[in-house]
Amino acid sequence: MDFKELAKEYGTPLYVYDFDYMTAQYNELKEAFRGRKSIIAYAVKANSNLSVIKHFAKMGSGADCVSIGEVRRAFLAGIPAYKIIFSGVGKSDAEIREAIERDILYINVESEAELGRVELIAKELNVAARISIRVNPNIDPKTHPYISTGLHDNKFGVDLDSAKRMYIKANNSQNLDPVGIHFHIGSQLTELQPIREAAEIVADLVRSLDAIDIELKFFDVGGGLGIKYDNETLIQPYDYAQAILGTLTGLDMTILCEPGRFLTANAGYFVTKVLYEKQNGSKKFVVVDGAMNDLLRPSLYNAYHEIEALTENKDDLREVDIVGPVCESGDFFAKDYALPPLNHNDLLVIKSAGAYGFGMGSNYNTRGRSAEVAVENGKARLIRRRENFDDLIALETKYLED
Ligand SMILES: *Cc1c(COP(=O)(O)O)cnc(C)c1O
Repeated sequence: MDFKELAKEYGTPLYVYDFDYMTAQYNELKEAFRGRKSIIAYAVKANSNLSVIKHFAKMGSGADCVSIGEVRRAFLAGIPAYKIIFSGVGKSDAEIREAIERDILYINVESEAELGRVELIAKELNVAARISIRVNPNIDPKTHPYISTGLHDNKFGVDLDSAKRMYIKANNSQNLDPVGIHFHIGSQLTELQPIREAAEIVADLVRSLDAIDIELKFFDVGGGLGIKYDNETLIQPYDYAQAILGTLTGLDMTILCEPGRFLTANAGYFVTKVLYEKQNGSKKFVVVDGAMNDLLRPSLYNAYHEIEALTENKDDLREVDIVGPVCESGDFFAKDYALPPLNHNDLLVIKSAGAYGFGMGSNYNTRGRSAEVAVENGKARLIRRRENFDDLIALETKYLED
């Protein structure tokens, strides 16, 4: 990847995505479930650029969406309705209505109250809405607390008893069609055991529902497969698939898997330019043109990203804080990170930035968001132009006269 050339062509800060890497990740996971009916439903929130979604659509991927906006993106990018699912703990009536009208595969319901809303809206529309219930198996996924979702302490899903009650209610309703069951215990998972335990708990619930003639077709195992940011030991896709399939003996269900980070994180690079070096007492800072509004993960989770300096001299390393121009002390990409001496306009490449990077961006400090570039078969193309000042004020200017 010729980052210098890309930076010259498209400017900085810049997101660059290796689409061929995404293809390879998708194929590896799909292959792991070989011999079983499976749908890989790309978790759109990880990187919701339309061209990224379209790339997965072309491979046969479905989409896991957490807002109606994401559902609309999935449609625009060419994902067929029957491979789109809609998850999330707080869906508005308008979102539920549109999801039903668009006839997506199913809505992942996350509470009894929500089940009631879905039923009511489906009744108004005179249809039976396909649903799945998100079960919270109360399993500690051993990941960062902000991305842990399968404990009763977390807001997600419903406990087993509630789930069973909800399935019985749904099965007795004219306007609900329970077709699936769902769990998603967290993100950046690097241990298999919690996933296996969660799958076992949920598979047992499926069997107990089967016994009362509530037959579900889709076993939705969520996403969460971890990736290498630093020196994590990873779950191999094959082992992941085997662990899940091992819990499903006697059940003929289609597996739904909702990876986000696994498919896109290590395909992405955030390229930023050095503005200055500065020293405050004994502390050395490298100030770059990218900031927390472009890539929030270090500020939000204290997340580690590998950073490479594109300099001739790779030696003479010193420990520096790499910071952006935003007026927050939390605006950093790394602290005490070993980098060689840097000059004005040298480039830094921040790795593993393809998931939860651009999408978490904002316009804080009236900074336009970066351009995004795809590289595929050695060719680069723009997939989102850089935001300019006019974009940032477009929704406000007409009110100036008031
Ligand atoms: C965020 C999310 C995912 C994707 O998580 P990754 O860790 O990126 O794989 C999948 N399913 C649901 C319901 C989610 O909220």
